Amino acid sequence: GNKSINAKLVLLGDVGAGKSSLVLRFVKGQFVEFQESTIGAAFFSQTLAVNDINVKFEIWDTAGQERYHSLAPMYYRGAAAAVIVYDITNQVSFDRAKKWVQELQAQGNSNMVMALAGNKADLVDARKVAAEASDAQTYAQENGLFFAETSAKTATNVNDIFFEIAKRLPRV
Ligand code: GDP
Ligand code: MG
Repeated sequence: GNKSINAKLVLLGDVGAGKSSLVLRFVKGQFVEFQESTIGAAFFSQTLAVNDINVKFEIWDTAGQERYHSLAPMYYRGAAAAVIVYDITNQVSFDRAKKWVQELQAQGNSNMVMALAGNKADLVDARKVAAEASDAQTYAQENGLFFAETSAKTATNVNDIFFEIAKRLPRV
């Protein structure tokens, strides 16, 4: 049969950015307008076949509230991949996303595959964070992150970001 690898993946980012919604879209193909706030963290798994290898993602969806910050290392330690999520309509969430990237760079493992997701891309009229030029794309390039704007609501780029991570994982 096909070769299989397990990959621990953590979602980090401000509360309300859409971490749980991205996971729900990826794992179940669903979206809900009133997604409940995550308490502590939630676990999901989903398998993708990439180049004849089954990548089983073990996904930790963290809460994002500042009061749970001290728990975050439990979830990103040993993770093969991280998706750092911000909300394109919320500049503060982008600033927090950069803080998460810094924290991972300082404490995480240097082989970690990192993706930056600018979520709620469907809400273009309320955009506060520019996609190209000065902001997200440039920041991602400078920091070696894979970048995409996503929408958990419309499903834009959601599977793509997980596929891209799977492709970039080291083949054990
Ligand atoms: P989390 O705290 O980062 O897990 O964020 P949630 O997944 O709980 O989402 C917070 C709110 O934003 C919920 O009301 C979601 O329905 C909404 N939301 C999440 N993703 C999107 C998106 O891509 N587009 C829109 N319009 N709303 C979204
Ligand atoms: Mg959540």
